[in-house]
Amino acid sequence: MKIEIVAIGSIPDLLLQRLPAMLIETFKPLADECGVTTRKSIPSTAFDAQRRQYRAESVLRHLLFGADRDNVILGIVGVDLYVPKLNFVFGLSQLLGRGALVSIHRLNPSFYGQAPDFELLWNRTRKEAIHELGHVFGLNHCDDPKCVMNFSNSILEVDRKSSHFCSRCRAKLLHRF
Ligand SMILES: [Zn+2]
Ligand SMILES: [Zn+2]
Repeated sequence: MKIEIVAIGSIPDLLLQRLPAMLIETFKPLADECGVTTRKSIPSTAFDAQRRQYRAESVLRHLLFGADRDNVILGIVGVDLYVPKLNFVFGLSQLLGRGALVSIHRLNPSFYGQAPDFELLWNRTRKEAIHELGHVFGLNHCDDPKCVMNFSNSILEVDRKSSHFCSRCRAKLLHRF
């Protein structure tokens, strides 16, 4: 099965270069192929002018529309995302579906007024990408604070968890197939 990364907006090249090998390594043997495509823009209908944020469901729907149905789609966007009732989300996915979405907007140290730090951005992006794809592959949130499936509501929680599945989540992931 192939994971198709769809990058929209200005996403650092090095991030997109590193993601495929990392995702194949993480999700083997479920995924054996991963490629990157780019798109120019997000539909303006997903933008909420009052909040100045993009509605995550709309962006994800846009990504899945017309995409190869055999692939799992992972969208990487630079814009800020939200879902109703939450101030923001780092990402969104369909449990046991075929689509996941990650925003690097609030993963970037510069969002918090800190100096640019690519390795920190990479580590955070990697965790959120694995987390959202974990949902696509059937995993729910995990109570283990170190597990990558732990729910993150703040950047501190993203930084606290690891980029790995705990043994329980790993077993569940592999048991599905
Ligand atoms: Zn989650
Ligand atoms: Zn876990």
